[in-house]
Amino acid sequence: MIVQEHVSLKPYNSFGLDVNACYFCELQERRDIALLQERKVFDTESYLIIGEGNNILFTKDFEGYVIHNQLRGIEIIEETTDTISLKVAAGEDWHAFVLYCCEKEWYGIENLAYIPSTVGAAPVQNIGAYGTEIKNTVTTVEAYHIPTREFVTLTQEQCKFGYRTSVFKDCAKQYIILSVTFQLSKIPQLNTTYKDINEALRALDSQSTKALDVANVVTQIRKRKLPEPSELGSAGSFFKNPVVSKARYESLKNQYPAIISYSQENDVKLAAGWLIEQCGWKGYRQGEVGVYDKQSLILVNYGHATGQDILALARKITASVQQKFEIDLQTEVNIL
Ligand SMILES: Cc1cc2nc3c(=O)[nH]c(=O)nc-3n(C[C@H](O)[C@H](O)[C@H](O)COP(=O)(O)OP(=O)(O)OC[C@H]3O[C@@H](n4cnc5c(N)ncnc54)[C@H](O)[C@@H]3O)c2cc1C
Repeated sequence: MIVQEHVSLKPYNSFGLDVNACYFCELQERRDIALLQERKVFDTESYLIIGEGNNILFTKDFEGYVIHNQLRGIEIIEETTDTISLKVAAGEDWHAFVLYCCEKEWYGIENLAYIPSTVGAAPVQNIGAYGTEIKNTVTTVEAYHIPTREFVTLTQEQCKFGYRTSVFKDCAKQYIILSVTFQLSKIPQLNTTYKDINEALRALDSQSTKALDVANVVTQIRKRKLPEPSELGSAGSFFKNPVVSKARYESLKNQYPAIISYSQENDVKLAAGWLIEQCGWKGYRQGEVGVYDKQSLILVNYGHATGQDILALARKITASVQQKFEIDLQTEVNIL
């Protein structure tokens, strides 16, 4: 394992921020963990495991080890007439894995196409889109548990998946995810309830919709609506959608009849993008930072912003939403 010093993290974060890592190395095989342990990397707090950096805001240089996950491999571990289980190494590209499964007509993750991620980072915030979350198909997660220095396998339940969270996010720095096992269906089971997906599929006029059709439609929609990290720096949604009680929602609805919400079993999720837009931020730009003009949840770097610039804008947005709606926005992005 080669450990480099003073490495630019610009190619390793989707905001395109120009920060440095004091030390940088690639995790290419499991025994690299032992080498990191020998170097006493895990004896300090100064280490960070990254995938593609699509959900990180670096506000300063990282004064420690950045460990770039490059573990590769996809293995079928069980197959029945109806299901297939695959163990996927954490450094695999998520979208490539989705397409691989869709082409084989294995169902369950097609709605999550084109989310920029490694497979290993996907359980961290339980990635989700278009009515699907990764937790629906994850059976186990294999990880290195830093406090005990043991390799562990967590069941779906032990992962404590929630809305954009999991045990890996709650206990940041405790786990290095090495592989994720998924169980997918060989029987077509599509979730096309989202209006955009439904309309695009109907336009295809196909006799029987396949997983790949959904993945392609989702990809086209996402390309239309979201900035490409290679063209405009962002980390996707900067804030989580706030969840409020039904009573609180009713009172907001009385005051703001057009409020956008998603009803859940016991509470109501509000569209943070709508709240931000109502505060006048949509398309806002100040110098090198701004709010994406097609989606107010996304903060963008027009080229030369610093992490501090982005954080300052995020704080202004949070304060204005608090002032207008008395709602505390929480960040989805990991701020370092
Ligand atoms: C344009 C755009 C659109 C997006 N759309 C969505 C969306 O629709 N839905 C959604 O849920 N997210 C979305 N995101 C956020 C992002 O895609 C996900 O959070 C993704 O999982 C990040 O993957 P990554 O490999 O880049 O992780 P990184 O950004 O490198 O890491 C994210 C976090 O996970 C930790 N981590 C990474 N790898 C490991 C590992 N192997 N073990 C333990 N911890 C690890 C890191 O330390 C960090 O805390 C979007 C981002 C962008 C830029």
